[in-house]
Amino acid sequence: MWCILKLFRHACFGVMVSLCVFVGAVSCAPEALEDEDALELVEEIYDLDRFDIELDEPVPELPVKPYPESEEGRTVIIWMSIDGMRHDYLARTETPHFDRLIREGAHTRELKPGFPSITFPSHTSQATGVRVADHGIPANTFYDRERDRIFTFSGKPDLLEAEPIWTTATRQGLRVAVYDWIKSYNQPTPHAAEYYGQRYSGDLTDRERMELILDTWRADDSDTPLQLIMGYTVTPDLLGHEVGPEAPEIADMVAEMDALYGWFTEQIITLFDAKMSPRDELYLFITTDHGMSTVHSLVNIHLIAGLEEEEEKVLALTNGNMANIYLNKIESAEVRMQVEQNILNRLQAYDFLYADRRKDLPEQWGYNHPNRVGDIVVALDPGYTFHRGIASKVEPVEHMGGPMGMHGYDHHVDSNMLGVAVFWRYPEPLGGTYLGPVDSLQLHPTICRILGIQPAKGATHEYIDLPPPRMLEPILQDLP
Ligand SMILES: [Zn+2]
Repeated sequence: MWCILKLFRHACFGVMVSLCVFVGAVSCAPEALEDEDALELVEEIYDLDRFDIELDEPVPELPVKPYPESEEGRTVIIWMSIDGMRHDYLARTETPHFDRLIREGAHTRELKPGFPSITFPSHTSQATGVRVADHGIPANTFYDRERDRIFTFSGKPDLLEAEPIWTTATRQGLRVAVYDWIKSYNQPTPHAAEYYGQRYSGDLTDRERMELILDTWRADDSDTPLQLIMGYTVTPDLLGHEVGPEAPEIADMVAEMDALYGWFTEQIITLFDAKMSPRDELYLFITTDHGMSTVHSLVNIHLIAGLEEEEEKVLALTNGNMANIYLNKIESAEVRMQVEQNILNRLQAYDFLYADRRKDLPEQWGYNHPNRVGDIVVALDPGYTFHRGIASKVEPVEHMGGPMGMHGYDHHVDSNMLGVAVFWRYPEPLGGTYLGPVDSLQLHPTICRILGIQPAKGATHEYIDLPPPRMLEPILQDLP
């Protein structure tokens, strides 16, 4: 998602466009406050370049602090998210390092994001094991009726209505480090992770994000090991939005990510060997939040929904192909129902979108959050995305020069929303298994199972069936 910022810098998008993407298409809600912290954060990202991957720079030699020897057999999981790593990207070029992880690990090219396949809700579902209706983060930009506020890329932890894995693990006595995972900032006590960030820092390269993780682990000198370490890299999403997922530049980016993750794997093996004991095990999870689809047309929500013809108190917020339309500022129930019907009538005349009342949305989306999802939800078909800057209802993407790639679509409708996931174990390999389709919600209980803790309340218990950890083998064998 952050990549859209890059778009502006390279394709000279105007301010109108940035408002559309970041703040959403704000129709009219003079009373609603915008999240100032979030806007500041957006500006910070906008100003800085995070696209360069530097592998030549030497890593500073910091002392490695070993944890006390243990005979018990402990597990360390490192969970990295690659934003926007579409299911077929690894086939675009030679990827010797990912090939190794796949050969020695387990993988899928059918990682299914929840709905919508947008960065904030998708990462939040992965971390919590529940869908939007239960975790409360319906989009990157959304309106909260009770607080009467718009939140944009917000780092506020109290917006989360479900327990993320870093809290689940900490609450059950494990030590956790998490940097740059969506919604992991400013963690509340009493179960804050041992290490976490204060805000997303847009000036870090992906390599620098990895170095922060490695440095934290290297310097950690507790008697108890860190057992869950989480991080985030953003480059594929950036480029996918900018040039589109079919562009030849994607292959070069994938080769760079392969080299970066090859370097990172060597670093974590070295640290694991230096810090942990012979019976301990290391897991590396590499997952993504969504794929990417080629954009051919831009759509103006105000014009197709006829918002100019309605009450001023209608608020429409867009995120890629999604729009949430909020009507709660219209005081009269009778007027509200009429406006709702008018807008739906106009939208449903188009054959390139789905539009319905919140309460009538498909059950499988798990999207019906009463406080933060619009009274009307609009989802454009693949190839279409919202854009506030266009003067007509629908225009070819070439008129604005981009974005050439977008996500957010239902993966049942657009299989290009499917992503890659690789699970790797050291020193004992997982055997090269192909896992088939994996639901993103399964990541939370899988981590819990490997760490020997209980999933969060409400989270699915349907874990991914990886070969069991060595430390649990005797226990699992005794089960009926
Ligand atoms: Zn994303």
